[in-house]
Amino acid sequence: MSNIKQLFLAHQAQTTNFPLMLEVSHAEGNYIVGSNQKKYLDLISGISVSALGHGNEKVKEAIKKQLDKHMHVMVYGEFVQNKPAELAGYLTGLLPKELNCVYLVNSGAEATDVALKLAKRYTGKYKLVANQNAYHGSTHAALSLNSSEYFKQAFRPLLPGVSFITFNDLAGINAIDDKTACVVTEVIQSEVGYVPANANFLQALRKKCNEVGALLVFDEIQSGIGKTGTMFAFEHYGVIPDILLLGKALGGGMPIGAVVTSKQILHAFTDNPILGHITTFGGHAVTAAAALAALQVVTDDNLLDGINEKEALFRQLLTHKAIKEITGKGLMLAVTVDSFENLLKVISICLENGLITDWFLFANNKLRIAPPLTITKEEIVFACKVINEALQEVYGA
Ligand code: PLP
Repeated sequence: MSNIKQLFLAHQAQTTNFPLMLEVSHAEGNYIVGSNQKKYLDLISGISVSALGHGNEKVKEAIKKQLDKHMHVMVYGEFVQNKPAELAGYLTGLLPKELNCVYLVNSGAEATDVALKLAKRYTGKYKLVANQNAYHGSTHAALSLNSSEYFKQAFRPLLPGVSFITFNDLAGINAIDDKTACVVTEVIQSEVGYVPANANFLQALRKKCNEVGALLVFDEIQSGIGKTGTMFAFEHYGVIPDILLLGKALGGGMPIGAVVTSKQILHAFTDNPILGHITTFGGHAVTAAAALAALQVVTDDNLLDGINEKEALFRQLLTHKAIKEITGKGLMLAVTVDSFENLLKVISICLENGLITDWFLFANNKLRIAPPLTITKEEIVFACKVINEALQEVYGA
């Protein structure tokens, strides 16, 4: 075993007893290159992060330029720095006029946490409503919105006042009442294996939130930044949230989270108490430079063009009879097979054959397909061939 692998196992925290153990040399475009110089097509983008592929030149250039100017100078929100301000301006320019103010943080979980605090502070209410089988992050507050006892039970007590509704089920909406501070939902429910929201579900949530004075929060940490063919998945629905959460691909490969809402709502953090949320590194100048460049690449290089055709090609070419269903939208697709045991074999065969895939937190019989937006048609043909052959090896012809 290599020295680095030994260090990884001995001194870096492990989160499962079966890590993939792929030793990385470097990554470029849609490929990760192992220390053995073997190339792997990246079909999961480091879990929905590398939307532009790896090492985009414009993002790297923006990072280098900012490095030469300054890195960290002050905790969030006190000094005026070019890149965070330009990022906030550019991002809100891509969004409906209601979403005109951004709080930049470090991760998706922090964005979730900020949204819950902000909703409580702004509405003066305390109840939080989330969907069954949703994942909004792993910190205490975000974990409180996780309906899985398996993931939660060791960490109680968690936040009080949380109730769960069923994604796409209108019957549960009555759980939202006049004590509800916010309802948090995804637009494409991710960790259950990419299930798009029904329009009537999002519309009913919007209507109910308006009636009772709760804030509607869309978690687009995974679905944002072009994955479904529009910059934000909610654009397919015509329903506008009060708070939009972003992260992952927003940073162009750098760590970031963002809470986007109205100036009026975010103003609640400025008094009673002042400093309603404090974060040292949120809006870091280098990260903000990377995020700004990443957003500009998506728009200027027309990366949203052709996402629907790429989805159609995956659906057309993934033909093996062991596939029960393919769900999702755009380049967020989930391929259902019969069991976790067999899927792990498929994932391992794909890896041997130069393709990185994965499963889902709440759907371990579904294969994750979430490649960079830059994946080419030839690469999709290759990926589908490898997956079909792996399925054949595990299930027979
Ligand atoms: N929300 C969704 C939908 C996610 O998929 C994730 C991460 O997988 C998060 C929130 C949490 O983001 P982070 O891992 O950056 O804390």
